[in-house]
Amino acid sequence: MPATERLYDGDPYLKEFRATVVSFDRNEVELDRTAFYPEGGGQAGDSGVIGGVVVVDTQKDDGKITHILETSLVMSVGDEVDCEIDWERRHRIMRLHSAAHIMEHFLWKQLGYLERLGSYVDEKKDRADYEYEGRLPPEALKKVEEATNEFLAEGHEIRIDPDPTQPDVRIWRCAEIEMPCGGTHVRNTMEIGRIRLKRKNPGRGKERVETSLVSD
Ligand SMILES: [Zn+2]
Repeated sequence: MPATERLYDGDPYLKEFRATVVSFDRNEVELDRTAFYPEGGGQAGDSGVIGGVVVVDTQKDDGKITHILETSLVMSVGDEVDCEIDWERRHRIMRLHSAAHIMEHFLWKQLGYLERLGSYVDEKKDRADYEYEGRLPPEALKKVEEATNEFLAEGHEIRIDPDPTQPDVRIWRCAEIEMPCGGTHVRNTMEIGRIRLKRKNPGRGKERVETSLVSD
């Protein structure tokens, strides 16, 4: 079966679309194309509605994207369905995801390069774990927060470009910051508003930086 067409790559602001059911099994639906972002790359899967049924999560397996429905409802292969993602939630994820890249840039500026061991962003916050012995100094974190907020308010454009040498890799760019990332992001840092940072200790030799949105 061919890979699902990923509408969110071309337009991360697409909220509603029509698609055709290509497979259906109990509460799992696959469409020919989708704007639902599947969990991956440290970003939560989207929720929303497909054919009037609530979608609680979106997952992927190779190139196939599966929408997990709240209830099992009969759909048939070939059905055309109206789909809508939970935009309020997704937009918060896009703001937080973009903010986390910028926070990391200023974190590295402040403390030098720290290896990122993992990260996860949902609508509540972004959590990024870094290799670090001891406790991240609070005054350094405060400086990172201030630098990030200042940068966000400057209204920098965010672009996603394909990597010319690897067509499957997408490069996230904002001012002088760039990194490979396949997630969904806002177009301009102004959309993010202000953020707040908090540290946690998720285990020995690691420190977690949590980024949350101050403005709704
Ligand atoms: Zn990203």
